[in-house]
Amino acid sequence: MTHPAPARPPHDALLDLAPPTAAEFAAVERRVAALLDTGNDVVIMQGEALLPLEGCVKGAARPGSTALNVVTGPYGQTFGGWLRDCGATVHDLEVPFSGAASAEQVERALREHPETDFVSLVHAEAATGNTNPVGEIGEVVRAHGALLMLDAVASVAAEPLLPDAWGVDLCVIGAQKAMGGPAGVSAVSVSERAWARLAGNPRAPRRSYLSLLDWKERWIDTGRRALPHAPAQLEMAALDACLARIEETGLAAVQDRHARAAAAARAGALALGGGLTPYVHEASAAAPVATTLRAPAGVDASALVAKALAADPELPLIAGGGALAAEMIRVNHYGPHATASAVTRSLRALGDALAVTAGTGAVPVDTEAAARAVAEAWA
Ligand SMILES: *Cc1c(COP(=O)(O)O)cnc(C)c1O
Repeated sequence: MTHPAPARPPHDALLDLAPPTAAEFAAVERRVAALLDTGNDVVIMQGEALLPLEGCVKGAARPGSTALNVVTGPYGQTFGGWLRDCGATVHDLEVPFSGAASAEQVERALREHPETDFVSLVHAEAATGNTNPVGEIGEVVRAHGALLMLDAVASVAAEPLLPDAWGVDLCVIGAQKAMGGPAGVSAVSVSERAWARLAGNPRAPRRSYLSLLDWKERWIDTGRRALPHAPAQLEMAALDACLARIEETGLAAVQDRHARAAAAARAGALALGGGLTPYVHEASAAAPVATTLRAPAGVDASALVAKALAADPELPLIAGGGALAAEMIRVNHYGPHATASAVTRSLRALGDALAVTAGTGAVPVDTEAAARAVAEAWA
């Protein structure tokens, strides 16, 4: 099977673009706020989502502060490093990547460390395929009084995300996953409590690319009349377009497509056989953005993925990162790949690769049963 070269926009669509005006920039912020159903300030940061995430951590944490860092995947590990860099005392709540953190675990950790004033949590982890019950966790964090930062990059548009209703003080999103948008700009909603925390922290970044306070002082507090510096016009145009597409389709429909893709991938993998199993044990803890599978014993996940991709390089398949590369297969069914067809083709390719990889005595593979299970679960 041959594939056409990826479509590239003509040069004139990319060059000589006027930057968005302050009014246009502010309008995009209002539409992100609507997407998140938030009444808090939204700041659009001119960089990938790790920029506001680092800005939030470095703005809130300081020597003398105590953080509970919930680790359900690689991003939680990153946040722990930043928190320690800031001189905060950090307690990591590590949960196996095959499950989710529970509100009870968070409550217990807060009871053990009552001085905790900051909690960092990832909503969905694309890298490990799990999702956490943020509403329930937010309730116990709010009752304790700590500030809650949420990384919602992999959950926004893939599943319900309600930062205000859930008591999230700092909610970071990016458009590059389920929104199908650009990776080069990102957004964060900031509660009044979070602004007060940042303003009261002498170590919070100021006059810095990481600074949320700069955006507050130079942009929000001056009535959003003049942008502090030249915005990334291509990325802002792409964010505008991707918001428009979600507004036309309806956020619920986009989320529904991702929920179906996850249900179909799980059901299809179970029907496929071959010893492949869902990496996340409970379906309720499986993220709508991506499904992770455990390779059968004796089969290297990255070699299996390489074989499947050799048959069809456009499949949304990748092996787990770092130490997970040997055992984890990720089906990244988000954005344009949140379709029954992408899920079916991914499972067929994995099944075909398994059939030629696994030795005698291996569990048989049934790609037709997988395709039927995907179709049923999708419907
Ligand atoms: C994808 C993702 C990000 C953004 O990081 P990139 O690796 O640059 O795409 C941040 N947090 C989570 C939970 C993500 O899944």
